[in-house]
Amino acid sequence: MSKSQKLFNESKKVIPSGVNSPVRYFEPYPFFAKKSNGAYIWDEDNQRYIDFCNGYGALLLGHRRKEVLSAVSKQLTQGTMFCTPTQSEIELSKLIVSNFPSIQKVRLVNTGGEATMTAIRLARGFTKKKKIIKFEGCYHGAHDSVLVKAGSGSAHNGISVSDGGLDEVSKNTLVVQYNNSEELERIISKNKDIAGVIVEPILANMGLILPEKNFLSEIRKITKDNDVPLIFDEVVTGFRISPGGAQQHFRIKPDITTLAKALGSGFAVAAVGGKKEIMDLLSPGGKVYQASTYAGNPTSVSAAIASIKTINKIKNKLYSKLEKYNIMLTHAIDDIATDLKIPHQINFTSSMFQIFFTDKPVVDYISSMNADAKKFKKMFSILLKNGVFIAPSQFEVVFLSDAHTKTDLENTINAYDVALKSVKN
Ligand code: PMP
Repeated sequence: MSKSQKLFNESKKVIPSGVNSPVRYFEPYPFFAKKSNGAYIWDEDNQRYIDFCNGYGALLLGHRRKEVLSAVSKQLTQGTMFCTPTQSEIELSKLIVSNFPSIQKVRLVNTGGEATMTAIRLARGFTKKKKIIKFEGCYHGAHDSVLVKAGSGSAHNGISVSDGGLDEVSKNTLVVQYNNSEELERIISKNKDIAGVIVEPILANMGLILPEKNFLSEIRKITKDNDVPLIFDEVVTGFRISPGGAQQHFRIKPDITTLAKALGSGFAVAAVGGKKEIMDLLSPGGKVYQASTYAGNPTSVSAAIASIKTINKIKNKLYSKLEKYNIMLTHAIDDIATDLKIPHQINFTSSMFQIFFTDKPVVDYISSMNADAKKFKKMFSILLKNGVFIAPSQFEVVFLSDAHTKTDLENTINAYDVALKSVKN
Protein backbone atom coordinates (compact mmCIF):
# COMPACT_ATOMS: atom_id res chain seq x y z
CA MET A 1 0.00 0.00 0.00
CA SER A 2 1.39 3.42 -0.89
CA LYS A 3 2.10 5.93 1.84
CA SER A 4 -0.51 8.29 0.34
CA GLN A 5 -3.13 5.56 0.57
CA LYS A 6 -2.22 4.85 4.19
CA LEU A 7 -2.35 8.56 5.00
CA PHE A 8 -5.70 8.92 3.29
CA ASN A 9 -7.16 6.09 5.37
CA GLU A 10 -5.86 7.83 8.49
CA SER A 11 -7.05 11.22 7.31
CA LYS A 12 -10.64 10.08 6.80
CA LYS A 13 -10.86 9.27 10.50
CA VAL A 14 -10.30 12.87 11.57
CA ILE A 15 -11.00 15.04 8.49
CA PRO A 16 -14.38 14.88 6.68
CA SER A 17 -13.80 12.90 3.47
CA GLY A 18 -10.09 13.12 4.28
CA VAL A 19 -9.62 16.53 2.62
CA ASN A 20 -9.83 20.16 3.65
CA SER A 21 -11.44 21.37 0.40
CA PRO A 22 -13.75 19.28 -1.82
CA VAL A 23 -11.89 19.35 -5.15
CA ARG A 24 -8.80 17.94 -3.45
CA TYR A 25 -10.47 14.53 -3.35
CA PHE A 26 -10.24 12.27 -6.35
CA GLU A 27 -10.55 8.53 -6.85
CA PRO A 28 -9.21 6.28 -5.52
CA TYR A 29 -7.38 8.63 -3.14
CA PRO A 30 -5.45 11.89 -3.49
CA PHE A 31 -1.67 11.90 -3.30
CA PHE A 32 -0.29 13.45 -0.14
CA ALA A 33 2.17 16.23 -0.90
CA LYS A 34 5.50 16.29 0.86
CA LYS A 35 7.38 19.17 -0.76
CA SER A 36 7.47 21.39 -3.82
CA ASN A 37 9.85 23.52 -5.81
CA GLY A 38 9.53 25.53 -9.03
CA ALA A 39 7.30 23.52 -11.36
CA TYR A 40 7.16 20.34 -9.25
CA ILE A 41 5.43 18.69 -6.32
CA TRP A 42 6.72 15.50 -4.68
CA ASP A 43 4.38 13.20 -2.82
CA GLU A 44 4.98 11.14 0.30
CA ASP A 45 6.00 8.19 -1.91
CA ASN A 46 8.65 10.44 -3.50
CA GLN A 47 6.85 10.51 -6.84
CA ARG A 48 7.46 13.80 -8.70
CA TYR A 49 4.67 15.58 -10.58
CA ILE A 50 4.88 18.51 -12.99
CA ASP A 51 2.35 20.81 -11.39
CA PHE A 52 -0.32 22.39 -13.58
CA CYS A 53 -2.79 22.85 -10.73
CA ASN A 54 -0.44 25.45 -9.31
CA GLY A 55 -2.49 26.26 -6.24
CA TYR A 56 -5.56 26.73 -8.46
CA GLY A 57 -3.78 29.61 -10.13
CA ALA A 58 -2.00 31.11 -7.14
CA LEU A 59 1.45 29.99 -8.21
CA LEU A 60 1.89 32.16 -11.29
CA LEU A 61 5.55 32.49 -10.33
CA GLY A 62 5.95 28.80 -9.44
CA HIS A 63 6.51 27.06 -6.11
CA ARG A 64 8.89 28.62 -3.58
CA ARG A 65 9.75 31.60 -5.77
CA LYS A 66 13.00 32.97 -4.40
CA GLU A 67 11.94 36.66 -4.23
CA VAL A 68 8.82 35.68 -2.30
CA LEU A 69 10.63 33.31 0.06
CA SER A 70 13.30 35.84 0.89
CA ALA A 71 10.73 38.58 1.65
CA VAL A 72 8.79 36.20 3.89
CA SER A 73 11.98 34.93 5.62
CA LYS A 74 12.95 38.53 6.37
CA GLN A 75 9.50 39.24 7.76
CA LEU A 76 9.66 36.16 10.01
CA THR A 77 12.57 37.76 11.84
CA GLN A 78 10.50 40.92 12.45
CA GLY A 79 7.19 39.47 13.61
CA THR A 80 4.26 37.52 12.20
CA MET A 81 1.27 39.13 13.87
CA PHE A 82 0.74 42.65 15.15
CA CYS A 83 -2.99 43.43 14.69
CA THR A 84 -2.12 47.07 14.43
CA PRO A 85 -1.45 48.81 11.12
CA THR A 86 1.93 48.41 9.43
CA GLN A 87 3.84 50.41 6.86
CA SER A 88 3.95 47.37 4.60
CA GLU A 89 0.14 47.37 4.27
CA ILE A 90 0.40 50.87 2.77
CA GLU A 91 3.14 49.69 0.40
CA LEU A 92 1.04 46.73 -0.75
CA SER A 93 -2.10 48.84 -1.16
CA LYS A 94 -0.18 51.41 -3.22
CA LEU A 95 1.13 48.65 -5.48
CA ILE A 96 -2.41 47.30 -6.01
CA VAL A 97 -3.77 50.79 -6.68
CA SER A 98 -1.04 51.54 -9.19
CA ASN A 99 -1.49 48.21 -11.03
CA PHE A 100 -5.32 48.54 -11.13
CA PRO A 101 -6.47 52.02 -12.20
CA SER A 102 -10.10 51.18 -11.28
CA ILE A 103 -9.03 50.74 -7.66
CA GLN A 104 -8.70 53.91 -5.61
CA LYS A 105 -8.80 52.28 -2.21
CA VAL A 106 -8.32 48.68 -1.17
CA ARG A 107 -8.98 46.56 1.89
CA LEU A 108 -6.86 43.49 2.51
CA VAL A 109 -8.54 40.23 3.47
CA ASN A 110 -7.39 36.61 3.52
CA THR A 111 -9.28 34.60 0.92
CA GLY A 112 -11.09 35.07 -2.36
CA GLY A 113 -14.41 34.17 -0.76
CA GLU A 114 -13.95 36.82 1.91
CA ALA A 115 -13.16 39.36 -0.80
CA THR A 116 -16.32 38.60 -2.82
CA MET A 117 -18.46 38.52 0.33
CA THR A 118 -17.19 42.01 1.21
CA ALA A 119 -17.61 43.23 -2.38
CA ILE A 120 -21.26 42.14 -2.40
CA ARG A 121 -21.95 43.68 0.99
CA LEU A 122 -20.37 46.92 -0.22
CA ALA A 123 -22.56 46.92 -3.34
CA ARG A 124 -25.65 46.40 -1.19
CA GLY A 125 -24.56 49.08 1.28
CA PHE A 126 -23.83 51.53 -1.52
CA THR A 127 -27.07 51.05 -3.45
CA LYS A 128 -29.29 50.19 -0.46
CA LYS A 129 -30.68 47.44 -2.68
CA LYS A 130 -30.92 43.72 -2.11
CA LYS A 131 -30.51 41.49 -5.11
CA ILE A 132 -27.32 40.54 -6.85
CA ILE A 133 -26.84 39.06 -10.27
CA LYS A 134 -24.26 36.40 -10.97
CA PHE A 135 -23.55 34.37 -14.08
CA GLU A 136 -24.18 30.63 -14.38
CA GLY A 137 -21.03 28.64 -13.67
CA CYS A 138 -19.04 31.51 -12.16
CA TYR A 139 -17.59 30.58 -8.79
CA HIS A 140 -17.03 33.32 -6.25
CA GLY A 141 -16.36 31.39 -3.04
CA ALA A 142 -18.30 29.17 -0.66
CA HIS A 143 -20.74 31.69 0.88
CA ASP A 144 -24.52 31.64 0.51
CA SER A 145 -25.03 34.63 -1.82
CA VAL A 146 -22.83 33.20 -4.55
CA LEU A 147 -23.18 29.45 -4.10
CA VAL A 148 -26.00 29.35 -6.62
CA LYS A 149 -25.41 27.59 -9.95
CA ALA A 150 -21.73 27.95 -9.20
CA GLY A 151 -18.81 26.27 -10.91
CA SER A 152 -15.67 24.64 -9.49
CA GLY A 153 -16.21 21.99 -6.80
CA SER A 154 -19.91 22.73 -6.50
CA ALA A 155 -20.46 21.90 -10.20
CA HIS A 156 -18.14 18.89 -9.85
CA ASN A 157 -20.15 17.56 -6.91
CA GLY A 158 -23.54 18.49 -8.40
CA ILE A 159 -24.42 21.00 -5.69
CA SER A 160 -26.40 23.93 -7.09
CA VAL A 161 -27.47 25.31 -3.70
CA SER A 162 -25.77 23.92 -0.59
CA ASP A 163 -27.69 22.14 2.17
CA GLY A 164 -27.57 24.46 5.15
CA GLY A 165 -27.56 27.52 2.90
CA LEU A 166 -30.58 29.78 3.41
CA ASP A 167 -33.22 30.07 0.68
CA GLU A 168 -33.83 33.58 1.99
CA VAL A 169 -30.29 34.43 0.87
CA SER A 170 -30.05 32.50 -2.39
CA LYS A 171 -33.42 33.78 -3.64
CA ASN A 172 -31.81 37.23 -3.70
CA THR A 173 -29.23 35.96 -6.16
CA LEU A 174 -30.42 36.05 -9.75
CA VAL A 175 -28.56 33.95 -12.27
CA VAL A 176 -27.88 34.92 -15.89
CA GLN A 177 -26.30 32.80 -18.63
CA TYR A 178 -22.61 33.62 -19.18
CA ASN A 179 -21.98 35.37 -22.50
CA ASN A 180 -25.60 36.54 -22.63
CA SER A 181 -25.68 40.29 -22.09
CA GLU A 182 -29.22 40.52 -23.52
CA GLU A 183 -30.52 38.37 -20.68
CA LEU A 184 -28.72 40.62 -18.21
CA GLU A 185 -30.32 43.69 -19.75
CA ARG A 186 -33.77 42.10 -19.62
CA ILE A 187 -33.44 41.19 -15.95
CA ILE A 188 -31.99 44.54 -14.90
CA SER A 189 -34.66 46.50 -16.74
CA LYS A 190 -37.44 44.45 -15.11
CA ASN A 191 -36.00 44.52 -11.59
CA LYS A 192 -35.37 47.73 -9.72
CA ASP A 193 -33.83 46.05 -6.68
CA ILE A 194 -30.43 45.08 -8.13
CA ALA A 195 -27.52 45.94 -5.82
CA GLY A 196 -24.72 44.63 -8.03
CA VAL A 197 -23.56 42.36 -10.81
CA ILE A 198 -20.62 40.04 -10.14
CA VAL A 199 -18.72 38.27 -12.90
CA GLU A 200 -15.52 36.37 -13.58
CA PRO A 201 -14.23 38.35 -16.58
CA ILE A 202 -12.79 35.06 -17.84
CA LEU A 203 -14.73 32.08 -16.51
CA ALA A 204 -12.14 29.78 -14.98
CA ASN A 205 -14.44 27.59 -12.88
CA MET A 206 -16.37 25.63 -15.52
CA GLY A 207 -13.23 24.55 -17.24
CA LEU A 208 -12.12 27.63 -19.15
CA ILE A 209 -14.80 29.73 -20.84
CA LEU A 210 -13.81 32.90 -22.61
CA PRO A 211 -15.95 36.02 -22.73
CA GLU A 212 -17.30 36.47 -26.25
CA LYS A 213 -16.38 39.65 -28.10
CA ASN A 214 -18.14 42.65 -26.51
CA PHE A 215 -19.70 40.62 -23.65
CA LEU A 216 -17.73 42.46 -20.98
CA SER A 217 -18.10 45.89 -22.58
CA GLU A 218 -21.84 45.31 -22.96
CA ILE A 219 -22.29 44.33 -19.32
CA ARG A 220 -20.23 47.36 -18.32
CA LYS A 221 -22.57 49.57 -20.36
CA ILE A 222 -25.75 47.96 -19.05
CA THR A 223 -24.66 48.27 -15.41
CA LYS A 224 -23.51 51.86 -15.88
CA ASP A 225 -26.74 52.90 -17.63
CA ASN A 226 -28.72 51.40 -14.74
CA ASP A 227 -26.48 52.66 -11.90
CA VAL A 228 -25.68 49.13 -10.80
CA PRO A 229 -22.14 48.52 -9.45
CA LEU A 230 -20.17 46.02 -11.49
CA ILE A 231 -17.91 43.66 -9.55
CA PHE A 232 -15.07 41.98 -11.42
CA ASP A 233 -14.03 38.86 -9.55
CA GLU A 234 -10.37 38.76 -10.54
CA VAL A 235 -9.40 36.20 -7.92
CA VAL A 236 -8.02 34.01 -10.73
CA THR A 237 -7.34 36.58 -13.47
CA GLY A 238 -5.75 39.30 -11.32
CA PHE A 239 -2.00 39.44 -12.11
CA ARG A 240 -2.39 36.25 -14.21
CA ILE A 241 -3.80 37.79 -17.38
CA SER A 242 -1.70 40.93 -17.04
CA PRO A 243 -0.21 42.98 -14.16
CA GLY A 244 -3.57 44.80 -14.09
CA GLY A 245 -5.68 41.66 -14.54
CA ALA A 246 -8.38 40.98 -17.11
CA GLN A 247 -9.65 44.54 -16.75
CA GLN A 248 -6.36 45.87 -18.14
CA HIS A 249 -6.44 43.32 -20.96
CA PHE A 250 -10.06 44.09 -21.94
CA ARG A 251 -9.79 47.81 -21.03
CA ILE A 252 -12.84 47.78 -18.78
CA LYS A 253 -13.17 49.58 -15.46
CA PRO A 254 -15.38 47.78 -12.95
CA ASP A 255 -16.60 49.57 -9.81
CA ILE A 256 -15.30 46.92 -7.42
CA THR A 257 -12.56 44.31 -7.93
CA THR A 258 -11.60 41.24 -5.93
CA LEU A 259 -8.09 39.80 -5.98
CA ALA A 260 -6.45 36.75 -4.37
CA LYS A 261 -4.46 33.74 -5.68
CA ALA A 262 -1.50 35.16 -7.68
CA LEU A 263 -1.49 38.20 -5.39
CA GLY A 264 0.07 36.10 -2.62
CA SER A 265 2.03 33.45 -4.55
CA GLY A 266 0.80 30.75 -2.17
CA PHE A 267 0.30 32.84 0.98
CA ALA A 268 -3.20 33.59 2.26
CA VAL A 269 -3.90 37.13 1.16
CA ALA A 270 -6.72 38.66 -0.84
CA ALA A 271 -8.09 42.12 -1.49
CA VAL A 272 -11.24 44.00 -2.33
CA GLY A 273 -10.81 47.38 -3.95
CA GLY A 274 -12.68 49.95 -5.96
CA LYS A 275 -13.98 53.46 -6.18
CA LYS A 276 -13.24 55.64 -3.17
CA GLU A 277 -16.90 56.49 -2.53
CA ILE A 278 -17.76 52.79 -2.33
CA MET A 279 -14.70 51.64 -0.36
CA ASP A 280 -15.11 54.42 2.21
CA LEU A 281 -18.38 52.80 3.27
CA LEU A 282 -16.36 50.11 5.05
CA SER A 283 -16.26 50.16 8.83
CA PRO A 284 -15.11 51.80 11.01
CA GLY A 285 -15.58 54.99 8.91
CA GLY A 286 -18.67 53.62 7.20
CA LYS A 287 -21.48 51.28 8.10
CA VAL A 288 -20.62 48.29 5.92
CA TYR A 289 -19.06 45.94 8.42
CA GLN A 290 -16.02 43.88 7.56
CA ALA A 291 -13.31 42.60 9.87
CA SER A 292 -10.68 39.90 10.22
CA THR A 293 -8.00 39.04 12.77
CA TYR A 294 -5.57 37.95 10.08
CA ALA A 295 -6.31 40.70 7.50
CA GLY A 296 -3.12 42.44 6.43
CA ASN A 297 -0.99 40.02 8.43
CA PRO A 298 2.68 40.86 7.88
CA THR A 299 3.76 37.48 6.52
CA SER A 300 1.20 37.37 3.73
CA VAL A 301 1.62 41.07 3.04
CA SER A 302 5.38 40.62 2.57
CA ALA A 303 4.68 37.75 0.13
CA ALA A 304 2.21 39.89 -1.81
CA ILE A 305 4.57 42.87 -2.05
CA ALA A 306 7.33 40.59 -3.35
CA SER A 307 4.92 38.93 -5.81
CA ILE A 308 3.71 42.19 -7.34
CA LYS A 309 7.19 43.69 -7.50
CA THR A 310 8.50 40.55 -9.20
CA ILE A 311 5.59 40.47 -11.65
CA ASN A 312 6.03 44.16 -12.49
CA LYS A 313 9.78 43.69 -12.94
CA ILE A 314 9.60 40.70 -15.28
CA LYS A 315 6.26 41.46 -16.96
CA ASN A 316 7.74 42.04 -20.42
CA LYS A 317 9.13 38.52 -20.50
CA LEU A 318 6.66 36.75 -18.21
CA TYR A 319 3.37 37.11 -20.10
CA SER A 320 4.80 36.51 -23.57
CA LYS A 321 6.64 33.41 -22.34
CA LEU A 322 3.52 32.00 -20.65
CA GLU A 323 1.39 32.63 -23.71
CA LYS A 324 3.99 31.09 -26.03
CA TYR A 325 4.23 27.98 -23.83
CA ASN A 326 0.46 27.75 -23.57
CA ILE A 327 0.11 27.89 -27.35
CA MET A 328 2.80 25.18 -27.77
CA LEU A 329 1.08 22.93 -25.27
CA THR A 330 -2.49 23.41 -26.41
CA HIS A 331 -1.62 23.07 -30.11
CA ALA A 332 0.23 19.82 -29.43
CA ILE A 333 -2.65 18.43 -27.34
CA ASP A 334 -5.14 19.53 -29.99
CA ASP A 335 -3.11 17.74 -32.69
CA ILE A 336 -2.96 14.53 -30.64
CA ALA A 337 -6.72 14.54 -29.96
CA THR A 338 -7.48 15.38 -33.61
CA ASP A 339 -5.23 12.57 -34.90
CA LEU A 340 -6.99 10.18 -32.55
CA LYS A 341 -10.37 11.46 -33.82
CA ILE A 342 -11.53 12.25 -30.28
CA PRO A 343 -14.30 14.88 -30.33
CA HIS A 344 -12.90 17.73 -28.27
CA GLN A 345 -12.60 21.46 -27.73
CA ILE A 346 -9.68 23.31 -26.25
CA ASN A 347 -10.31 26.75 -24.76
CA PHE A 348 -7.19 28.71 -23.93
CA THR A 349 -5.93 32.16 -23.14
CA SER A 350 -2.79 33.62 -21.63
CA SER A 351 -1.51 30.99 -19.16
CA MET A 352 -4.69 28.90 -18.77
CA PHE A 353 -6.42 26.22 -20.81
CA GLN A 354 -8.83 23.32 -20.62
CA ILE A 355 -9.82 20.45 -22.88
CA PHE A 356 -13.48 19.36 -23.10
CA PHE A 357 -14.63 16.09 -24.65
CA THR A 358 -17.46 17.33 -26.84
CA ASP A 359 -17.91 18.29 -30.48
CA LYS A 360 -19.73 21.54 -29.62
CA PRO A 361 -18.06 24.83 -28.66
CA VAL A 362 -17.98 25.40 -24.90
CA VAL A 363 -19.24 28.91 -24.23
CA ASP A 364 -21.33 28.65 -21.06
CA TYR A 365 -22.45 26.49 -18.12
CA ILE A 366 -24.66 24.13 -20.14
CA SER A 367 -22.12 23.47 -22.89
CA SER A 368 -19.45 22.76 -20.25
CA MET A 369 -21.82 20.47 -18.33
CA ASN A 370 -22.54 18.58 -21.56
CA ALA A 371 -18.90 17.66 -22.15
CA ASP A 372 -17.92 14.10 -21.22
CA ALA A 373 -16.63 14.45 -17.65
CA LYS A 374 -16.01 10.68 -17.37
CA LYS A 375 -13.46 10.89 -20.18
CA PHE A 376 -11.88 13.85 -18.42
CA LYS A 377 -11.60 11.84 -15.20
CA LYS A 378 -9.90 9.01 -17.04
CA MET A 379 -7.50 11.44 -18.71
CA PHE A 380 -6.72 13.01 -15.34
CA SER A 381 -5.76 9.72 -13.73
CA ILE A 382 -3.50 8.66 -16.62
CA LEU A 383 -1.81 12.07 -16.62
CA LEU A 384 -1.18 11.64 -12.92
CA LYS A 385 0.29 8.16 -13.43
CA ASN A 386 2.59 9.76 -15.99
CA GLY A 387 3.81 12.46 -13.62
CA VAL A 388 1.54 15.36 -14.63
CA PHE A 389 -0.78 16.90 -12.03
CA ILE A 390 -3.68 19.00 -13.30
CA ALA A 391 -6.69 19.98 -11.18
CA PRO A 392 -8.79 16.82 -10.80
CA SER A 393 -11.98 18.19 -12.32
CA GLN A 394 -13.40 19.11 -15.68
CA PHE A 395 -14.65 22.30 -14.02
CA GLU A 396 -11.21 23.71 -13.23
CA VAL A 397 -8.44 24.87 -15.54
CA VAL A 398 -4.85 23.98 -16.28
CA PHE A 399 -2.49 26.71 -15.06
CA LEU A 400 0.99 27.35 -16.39
CA SER A 401 3.62 29.00 -14.23
CA ASP A 402 6.83 30.87 -14.85
CA ALA A 403 8.71 27.84 -13.50
CA HIS A 404 7.70 25.50 -16.36
CA THR A 405 10.49 24.73 -18.80
CA LYS A 406 10.39 23.50 -22.39
CA THR A 407 11.39 20.05 -21.12
CA ASP A 408 8.40 20.11 -18.75
CA LEU A 409 6.18 20.89 -21.73
CA GLU A 410 7.65 18.03 -23.78
CA ASN A 411 7.11 15.60 -20.91
CA THR A 412 3.59 16.92 -20.45
CA ILE A 413 2.77 16.50 -24.14
CA ASN A 414 4.02 12.89 -23.93
CA ALA A 415 1.79 12.30 -20.91
CA TYR A 416 -1.25 13.78 -22.73
CA ASP A 417 -0.42 11.50 -25.66
CA VAL A 418 -0.68 8.42 -23.42
CA ALA A 419 -3.73 9.78 -21.58
CA LEU A 420 -5.66 10.69 -24.72
CA LYS A 421 -4.95 7.30 -26.28
CA SER A 422 -6.49 5.67 -23.22
CA VAL A 423 -9.49 8.03 -23.40
CA LYS A 424 -10.11 6.88 -26.97
CA ASN A 425 -10.18 3.22 -25.97
N1 PMP B 1 -13.45 33.69 -6.97
C1 PMP B 1 -12.91 32.93 -7.92
C2 PMP B 1 -12.99 33.37 -9.35
C3 PMP B 1 -12.27 31.72 -7.58
O1 PMP B 1 -11.75 30.94 -8.55
C4 PMP B 1 -12.21 31.34 -6.23
C5 PMP B 1 -11.51 30.06 -5.79
N2 PMP B 1 -11.27 29.12 -6.70
C6 PMP B 1 -12.80 32.17 -5.28
C7 PMP B 1 -13.40 33.34 -5.67
C8 PMP B 1 -12.77 31.81 -3.82
O2 PMP B 1 -11.48 31.97 -3.33
P1 PMP B 1 -11.05 31.23 -1.98
O3 PMP B 1 -11.04 29.77 -2.26
O4 PMP B 1 -9.70 31.81 -1.69
O5 PMP B 1 -12.06 31.62 -0.96
